[in-house]
Amino acid sequence: MACSADERWRTIAGRFPLPGCLLSVRPFGSGLINTTLLVETDAPARVILQRINRRVFPEPAQVQRNLRTLHDHLASARAPERLALQLPGMIPTLDGADFLIDDEGEVWRALDFIDGTQSFDAIGDEVQAVEIGRALGHFHALLADLDPDRLHDTLPGFHVTPGYLATFDRVHADFGGERPPSLRAALEFVQARREFARVLEDAKAAGALTDRVIHGDPKLNNILFDESTGVAVAMIDLDTVKPGLIHYDLGDCLRSCCNRAGEGGAESVEFDVELCREVLAGYFAEAAHFLTGSDIAYLFDAIRLLPFELGLRFLTDHMAGDRYFHVTEPGQNLRRAQIQFQLVESIERQEKTIRSVCGSG
Ligand code: ATP
Ligand code: MG
Repeated sequence: MACSADERWRTIAGRFPLPGCLLSVRPFGSGLINTTLLVETDAPARVILQRINRRVFPEPAQVQRNLRTLHDHLASARAPERLALQLPGMIPTLDGADFLIDDEGEVWRALDFIDGTQSFDAIGDEVQAVEIGRALGHFHALLADLDPDRLHDTLPGFHVTPGYLATFDRVHADFGGERPPSLRAALEFVQARREFARVLEDAKAAGALTDRVIHGDPKLNNILFDESTGVAVAMIDLDTVKPGLIHYDLGDCLRSCCNRAGEGGAESVEFDVELCREVLAGYFAEAAHFLTGSDIAYLFDAIRLLPFELGLRFLTDHMAGDRYFHVTEPGQNLRRAQIQFQLVESIERQEKTIRSVCGSG
């Protein structure tokens, strides 16, 4: 007889050293990629058990190797105060491995549960914006002296905008569907910014920007805040940590934090420059010492590029038949693309102010 999910989860949890006798294993949080479970025992400490999504990460072992490299780096030669930001500790299996593969080929890992914290799906206020920037800046600073070449690229092509543009061109060329005015407007929007799509990759090729260790997905709900003080205390979801431009992280973080309407959108979508100012103030407080003049010079471009890139990906998926981004109604990915493009327009309208907030105006 086949095991229930619950029995399977308990068996897998039992292959890790737990702090006490196993009481329960249940789904936890609102993550969209991995399966996240909370393991409780008769001891106070809790454990996060995660099944890594193999559709998204074709080489889960590399994800875990990267995590190990990060932890080893942080453990070596770190002054204690620099560890103010926690990264979830890895719990090796009873056999001492950093992950286990079950009889269905699924890859599992266990992490320390970071207690007394909460995560948010929508930004609260300016104080929280500063904390977000501080967390990202601290994360980059902690890893600024880790050679990015020591990390695997767990998602090749991620955030390389010209690659997304090439995919868009292929899908567009094959597209035989109807072209209502809203789709035509979105296509024109992309065509008018084709050259711009290369801005960060060109700067990298010219040596103006260099790869560092990036988080890859520094959105609000991947930061944990102390329940009582509101201080950012941990960065989680380290699966996309890889070599890349810190501009991808900053652009993506600001794209998601400074759009109060969210990705679902509203009638009018605006980029909130005041929130951007606070996020960057927090970021600069932690990261100013390793940022170059060139890093600063390309910040505005990053802020403009990342929503353009996401919009381009939504638009491509819309024309390809909604294969990647799940939709609940027809046209939803086109609508999502329009929202990101509205954000780009809002950023373009406010270029002068945003450049001065970035320190490049
Ligand atoms: P995403 O949709 O953000 O890509 P994911 O599937 O990769 O999500 P995570 O972000 O790693 O999953 O975790 C999902 C949720 O579980 C988090 O938002 C957080 O609430 C909780 N969580 C994960 N790891 C920990 C931890 N070590 N301590 C406390 N809570 C955690
Ligand atoms: Mg997450």
